[in-house]
Amino acid sequence: MSIRKVAILGSTGSVGTQALEVIRAFPELLEVSVLTAASNAEALIAQAIEFKPKAVAITDERCFEQVKLALNSLGITVYTSEAGLVEVVQYDEIDVVLNAIVGAAGLRPTIEAIQKKRDIALANKETLVVAGALMMDMVKKYDVKMLPVDSEHSAIFQCLVGEQANPIEKVILTASGGPFRGKKRSFLEKVTKKEALKHPNWVMGAKITIDSASLMNKGLEVIEAKWLFDLSVDQVEVVVHPQSVIHSMVQFQDGSIKAQMGLPDMKLPIQNALTYPYRQQNSFERFDFLKYPSLTFEPADTGTFRNLDLAYQALREGGDRPCVLNAANEVAVDAFLHDQLSFLGMSDLIEATMCQLNVVKEPNLDDLIEIDRESRIMARDLINKNKR
Ligand code: NAD
Ligand code: MG
Repeated sequence: MSIRKVAILGSTGSVGTQALEVIRAFPELLEVSVLTAASNAEALIAQAIEFKPKAVAITDERCFEQVKLALNSLGITVYTSEAGLVEVVQYDEIDVVLNAIVGAAGLRPTIEAIQKKRDIALANKETLVVAGALMMDMVKKYDVKMLPVDSEHSAIFQCLVGEQANPIEKVILTASGGPFRGKKRSFLEKVTKKEALKHPNWVMGAKITIDSASLMNKGLEVIEAKWLFDLSVDQVEVVVHPQSVIHSMVQFQDGSIKAQMGLPDMKLPIQNALTYPYRQQNSFERFDFLKYPSLTFEPADTGTFRNLDLAYQALREGGDRPCVLNAANEVAVDAFLHDQLSFLGMSDLIEATMCQLNVVKEPNLDDLIEIDRESRIMARDLINKNKR
């Protein structure tokens, strides 16, 4: 494998910092050319001093001077604002863009990177939820690779190696069930953000941790899988597997099932995407079957956790519905984290927002950006009305 130059968007987050751990483990194979963050200037500066990228971007303009002052003398160009994010993606010395931004904010940089013919290592699932059809068309048109980083999709991707000629019967996404697995609505009515932020198997950013507790994360992943692997809605199933050891499975037309397994450690799918198609030896902790004597499976409780069904519904209705679902969910999670909405109130808000806005059947990218904006305003209005 020849050396790969990596741009990490969202390098100060959970996926971003784990990606830097992977790069640290392969100094002869992976090199950082660009780093970006929203507002954590200190962390971005420290990363840039260690990894010496050609450029960094800090989207919060209030942090620009601080970052520039710290890095300009090292020959690192500093950009700011959302426009800066778009500019760094176009930098010449990039082979692969790891998009580890959270939320629909990741959409525009993904588009720019594809248009510049960069391969994409995608953690930012919201890109595919908002604009999956258009993104996959662009991937074909510009002949780039879309390498999944999300552990479930990485698992499916790995199961499909060597199976090009063999149609998929279905994929089975595994879900941990989150911290509230087995709980009923009466319990969930009163849960706090502190409880929701405690994931049993993974340490992640706040938004995806809440999404995991509410099962919206699995809903977004169903949509992500549909687009990545060109499946119909009915070909994507979810099964709860609390140990998070089987990362997902593919069932072929002969009934045979391939599963990809390992410790729940994001460094593994990140490495897989950054070094694809090679498997490089590392010293990350190994899985021990004897420590997991029983692997269990159960159905998702969609009566209690309504978000998973809302996501399936959005996918079945198609058009702009997944974009509206995603935008309303981002507002809902933010409101829950600011004590403005209850845990169960999140599903109600998403459903109400989807009901309020008319369906747009074949939105283009500009439409989707506008629909994302309108959905957020609608969801915010609904929260404010409820407060009065
Ligand atoms: P995080 O909140 O820990 O990090 C997000 C990063 O993006 C930070 O560097 C932040 O500065 C930056 N960022 C946030 N908002 C931004 C904006 N509006 N514009 C530009 N940059 C912005 O999030 P995370 O847990 O690392 O998740 C990142 C993405 O990866 C999400 O889409 C998530 O669903 C997905 N993902 C995460 C994990 C995980 O283990 N954390 C696993 C699978 C998929
Ligand atoms: Mg996942």
